[in-house]
Amino acid sequence: MEECLFCRIASGEISANIVYEDDGVVAFDDISPQAPVHTLVIPRTHYDNMSDGVSPEAMAEVFGVVPEVARLKGVDESGYRVIVNNGPDANQTVGHLHVHIIGGSAMSHGMVQMER
Ligand code: AMP
Ligand code: ZN
Repeated sequence: MEECLFCRIASGEISANIVYEDDGVVAFDDISPQAPVHTLVIPRTHYDNMSDGVSPEAMAEVFGVVPEVARLKGVDESGYRVIVNNGPDANQTVGHLHVHIIGGSAMSHGMVQMER
């Protein structure tokens, strides 16, 4: 059995609201949305994060579907923010590379809140 939560979602072992999938990536709604639209895109292959030897091609697969997922979620024209929390200082909580697509309401201008 897979240990990684997002690997288990990618394999279908754990259910999620799948928005889009193809051979390389899966997009599903975040279980704890921080905006009206909050969808995650993951590669089917496990990488801890962007610093885990992800090839440019694999990176392009993940980011390449972002506009289509945004379109499917209805935020392609209203706009959306794309975020990757990469590693401890960024508060990455799930250790499988994922891209957040956040939208559906206007966001503040600032992107970064420092804790220290
Ligand atoms: P991060 O903090 O960038 O690692 O983001 C991890 C995200 O995964 C958080 O926004 C969580 O709400 C989300 N998440 C955790 N478990 C699940 C799940 N089972 N299905 C969908 N999203 C999840
Ligand atoms: Zn994984």
